[in-house]
Amino acid sequence: MQIRTKIAIQFTLIVALILALFSIAIYLLSANYRQKEFYNSLRDRALTTARLLIKEPQIDRQLLKVIDRNTLTTLYPAQVLVFNDSNQVAYYNYEADTVYYSPELLNRIRENRYVETAFSDKEVVGTMYQDTLSQNFVVLAQAEDVYGKQKLENIKDTMIVGYLGAVLLTILSGFFFAGSSLKPISEMNEEISRITASDLRRKLDTGNNKDELATLAVNFNKMLSRLDQSFELQKSFVSNASHELRTPLAAVKSEIQVALQKERTPEEYKNVLKSLLSDNQRLIQLTNGLLQLAKSENNKEDVLTENVRIDEILFKIQEDTMHSQPKFQVNIDYEDIPEDINWVTVFAKQTLIQTVFGNLIDNACKYSDNHRADVRIKANKDNCIVSVSDTGIGIPHDEIENVFQPFYRTKNATQYKGSGIGLSICHRIVKMLDGKISVKSEVGKGSMFIVVLPHV
Ligand code: ADP
Repeated sequence: MQIRTKIAIQFTLIVALILALFSIAIYLLSANYRQKEFYNSLRDRALTTARLLIKEPQIDRQLLKVIDRNTLTTLYPAQVLVFNDSNQVAYYNYEADTVYYSPELLNRIRENRYVETAFSDKEVVGTMYQDTLSQNFVVLAQAEDVYGKQKLENIKDTMIVGYLGAVLLTILSGFFFAGSSLKPISEMNEEISRITASDLRRKLDTGNNKDELATLAVNFNKMLSRLDQSFELQKSFVSNASHELRTPLAAVKSEIQVALQKERTPEEYKNVLKSLLSDNQRLIQLTNGLLQLAKSENNKEDVLTENVRIDEILFKIQEDTMHSQPKFQVNIDYEDIPEDINWVTVFAKQTLIQTVFGNLIDNACKYSDNHRADVRIKANKDNCIVSVSDTGIGIPHDEIENVFQPFYRTKNATQYKGSGIGLSICHRIVKMLDGKISVKSEVGKGSMFIVVLPHV
């Protein structure tokens, strides 16, 4: 079902219910007022007629009826009976047998001094009357409120017609209002359907910039910008990656071409093969890095797998690094011994944590003359914090922002071997683990990379 129809139906149902309750309340109140008013006037009629009958017992009943019918205030004929102490009809204006009464009713009137009740279509009022000789009478008056009931019927008919008309109007206006309030959404829909992947710079109209739809359009535009950015990043990543791969491949090709130009001695062939091996190693390193970068883009669930002790991993890296690169020196220190072993334990994939700190330690050793990395571990109740510092070449101030971008290498690092993807891998992994990585550095003095990871 379309939202427009849904809104219109809901709107109509709510209004119809409110109107129905309102109409019923008005009808019941009117019915109540009519009855009250009628009882009051019946009581007055009862007393006036009783007074006349008792004072003038010889009054002609026919005359009384004629007076009754012709009195302007009397719009209905009331039958009045006056009873003496022994429940005998003492006076009456209409034939007594057409009037309903029972000894119980008379006793009740004597007891309560005033009674209102109803019998069939008629309303009955009973009251006490004392004549000049202090004689007590029970006066009973009965009448049907034909006029009042007719009025009530009219009110009911008017209400039913009004109710049906109002519901019909509500249905029409509901459809109209739902349509007009959903119009901006349909317009937005059309605009969105025109946006294609190659056209992400297109933006939605944000209208008055105030209402919820404007906020939706603004957020949608922001999402488009983010998509556009990541599309651009993807494009530049692919071109950077192919450029990085092409350079060693081109070097390999020209080395082979030069070697094949003439006959070479076995020694010369050996040298060419050695150089090819080193290029090949660089290619392997690069493709491994690219693979890791792609892996670190995977789902968060893939990186959260096991409890990993950060200090143990750091000691392992220290051992491996110093074993494979005897020139490199790695120092590890606890800034303060953690209170709880969990404070240095993170929930992650071990290889990813190894990649992060392996890269940072490798860089610290690589970009410093003394090839030394100082690692410090500390922890608080929320995070485990590891800093890797060196006293090497440092990072120029205006380039510090860029070192986490894929393939970015600072100007002062060009004579060192590298591909510029290690730090971007670190950055992505740390981000996926809800941590933070930052760097403080000064050219010629050294750098310090700080990794903050939430522990278990
Ligand atoms: P790579 O070291 O392979 O070039 P990285 O992504 O690890 O790639 O680092 C990116 C760049 O950041 C490096 O090329 C270098 O310019 C700079 N950099 C990283 N670590 C350091 C460091 N410890 N000292 C100075 N510069 C660094």
